[in-house]
Amino acid sequence: MLFDTHAHLNAMQYSEDVEEVIQRAQHEGVSYIVVVGFDRPTIARAIDLAEQHDFIYAAVGWHPVDAIDMTDEDLHMIEQLAAHPKVVALGEMGLDYYWDKSPKDVQKEVFRKQIALAKKVKLPIIIHNREATADILTILQEENAQEVGGIMHCFTGSFEVAKQCIEMNFYISFGGPVTFKNAKKPKEVAKEIPLEHLLIETDCPYLTPHPFRGKRNEPSYVKYVAEAIAELKGISFEEVAWKTCENAKKLFGINR
Ligand SMILES: [Zn+2]
Ligand SMILES: [Zn+2]
Repeated sequence: MLFDTHAHLNAMQYSEDVEEVIQRAQHEGVSYIVVVGFDRPTIARAIDLAEQHDFIYAAVGWHPVDAIDMTDEDLHMIEQLAAHPKVVALGEMGLDYYWDKSPKDVQKEVFRKQIALAKKVKLPIIIHNREATADILTILQEENAQEVGGIMHCFTGSFEVAKQCIEMNFYISFGGPVTFKNAKKPKEVAKEIPLEHLLIETDCPYLTPHPFRGKRNEPSYVKYVAEAIAELKGISFEEVAWKTCENAKKLFGINR
């Protein structure tokens, strides 16, 4: 029983073989997948996939890299889709200071608007953070994001930052980097933070875990993330798989 809490099966990298990728995931014990939309086409595709497959759910939001493109109509569309029975979260949203397509002030405004919307529709949020930790924490605090909580996706920050996020009602989600030999920080955090605050994800097609690093990622590889966490904590793979799955179901309000 594995829950991939962050997959982009809506990406063009799967346009040829998405059904095979989904079958492989089921075959490898993946019981739930959240497909995350981040702009107009990927939101539409996430909804399609969630409607076509029982065990696939959708998150809808606007990525900070493309913040400059988000219109009021887009925000309205996200609000409408929040009522869809298979939509379990808003996101991904956040700040990305690595790419400079969207100015920081625009990113912040789009992030704040989506947090406000999440509070209105009462859905948890999925946070994307790249080189913007201090501003992310400030905005989560100022907007009282604690009210809805959510996920710090593909977390690579420090133990101290992880603790602050947990205090604000957020889960810490690990992806491929926790399996990389040179990834000191994620390994340390995964070891120290109690399992009840952890989730697992692939963020596929990116960030492929060891031993497939460099190849296209897919949900069936989420087991390698669970294995790495089990090894770091000195507990069984089954315990990590089961508890992270229970955590995700609770957060997303999934009862099946
Ligand atoms: Zn992301
Ligand atoms: Zn993502």
